[in-house]
Amino acid sequence: MDALTPPPQYTSERSNADAPAGTTPPLQLQVPEYSLPTSFTIGAQTTHPFVQVSQLKNHLALLHAFAELKLKVEALAPSPDMSILHLPENKERRWTVFVGMAVERFERWCKALPPTTKYDKGIATILPPIDVIMVWHAYLLNPGWYAEDLARVDGLGGLARVSEGFGNSLSDELGDIACKPSPERIDNWTRTTGTPFDPFESLTHLVTKELACPKCRAIVYAPSMTEVGDGYLQAGFSFACEACGFEITRDTLALRKFVTDLSASDAGKVQDVMAETLLPRLANSG
Ligand SMILES: [Zn+2]
Repeated sequence: MDALTPPPQYTSERSNADAPAGTTPPLQLQVPEYSLPTSFTIGAQTTHPFVQVSQLKNHLALLHAFAELKLKVEALAPSPDMSILHLPENKERRWTVFVGMAVERFERWCKALPPTTKYDKGIATILPPIDVIMVWHAYLLNPGWYAEDLARVDGLGGLARVSEGFGNSLSDELGDIACKPSPERIDNWTRTTGTPFDPFESLTHLVTKELACPKCRAIVYAPSMTEVGDGYLQAGFSFACEACGFEITRDTLALRKFVTDLSASDAGKVQDVMAETLLPRLANSG
């Protein structure tokens, strides 16, 4: 079939599901034969396909794995472990806590990635657990911010390298390896991040969050979750600095980060620009 031949017309056939009782007609679920065009005409231009069928299949497999993970978190039955951890009984709030934990795990992984390693042979052995892939995937859904962060933030050199491998793996076995971890992959993860590969096990492991007090810069360890809902992963986060008594909240942490960025010296390097200002500069200079 060439690029100009339309796909076969769709016809709705009866399947076994709606056959009259007592009859067994042959199953008619065969997909019509179809070959993807090798080029597309867009206006006056002709282009190759931007994505391959194998990439779409692997992407769908990943999305399925994310959906399964959410169902698993929502289905967690109340248990003594859950109440010790102060995991919310409300399933939406529990999912929010779980995603917050996945973000924490993603940050640890980014910091542990070597900044110069190239992944020409794929990323099967360094691919993180599925909850961390989910956070990475969400980050990639905002390609402008993602590209800006990789250029601006010094600690993301390793993520930039591994991102190239992630794109290449989409056409290979990413859908499978995202769900079936090899012993080498599990070992790589636990060795470099210091947290269990299993996200559910990680909930019992990462019970505090290391923070620098926005006022006195002392290092403190805030609980991830508390009974009253003011843990770092909870909506009402609030923690009194043990050194100076200052109330640490999301707002005061964000303010400190903004002031640090604003007052940093400007040597004219890409790392010196404020967040969300790099891409407009590039666009204006182009
Ligand atoms: Zn303090």
